Amino acid sequence: MSTAFRIRIKKKNKYLFLPDWENRFEVLSAFSLKPANLRSRRKRRKFAGKTGFTSANLSMPEQVHSTNVRVVRKPGKVYTETDGLVTAIQNIPLSVVVADCLAVYILDPLTPAIGLVHAGWRGTFGRIAVKALNLMRHEFGTSASGCFAAIGPGICAECYTVGNEIAARFRRKFGCSGKWLRRKPGGKYCLDLKELNLMQMAGAGVRKRNITVGSFCTSCRNDLFFSYRREGKKAGRNLALLEIK
Ligand SMILES: [Zn+2]
Repeated sequence: MSTAFRIRIKKKNKYLFLPDWENRFEVLSAFSLKPANLRSRRKRRKFAGKTGFTSANLSMPEQVHSTNVRVVRKPGKVYTETDGLVTAIQNIPLSVVVADCLAVYILDPLTPAIGLVHAGWRGTFGRIAVKALNLMRHEFGTSASGCFAAIGPGICAECYTVGNEIAARFRRKFGCSGKWLRRKPGGKYCLDLKELNLMQMAGAGVRKRNITVGSFCTSCRNDLFFSYRREGKKAGRNLALLEIK
């Protein structure tokens, strides 16, 4: 597994980034931390600008827990009914906002091309990260074996309990392996979204050593991250960004 996310501070903005990717490839990465609540588009642009991204070109999906992934061909657009973006164009930052759900970053350094998706349980169930990878293959000729992926930060399995109905849907689709689903005393289940996305990306041909899994849990570390499960509807949003330099 490659180097994980690390903390960086730029112009008083504290955020995570992917040092291994940035050292080796012409790419910029970020995942914002508290106290910056980046729910509004204006604040997302401002944060992107302060952290060195090409903020005027920021691409933003209007996330609806779908598995729709769109190709970004023009700068600065908002995409309705969309939860993932891919591009092969330089200086157009892709973004998603999350509070417990996962941001999955995809990098094809050879083309180069990038993808960024929002994966909660619905997106994970619909394999949105693999959909993004397939779209990159179709549009840009991306080969999964040359790709890198970074999953998270996001809610951990211990904090992410689901009922029997959702657990059963996942078992029917992804088999009965115990690693990503664990029964709790009292009948609820712990669902491991990070493990599921890791499994999906590896299954699609991304080498396991090229997949980073962010160890932070957004609910356990409520001091650093916004958490929908912990804070409810009023929870702010963390912003994930990825740009080809
Ligand atoms: Zn947790």
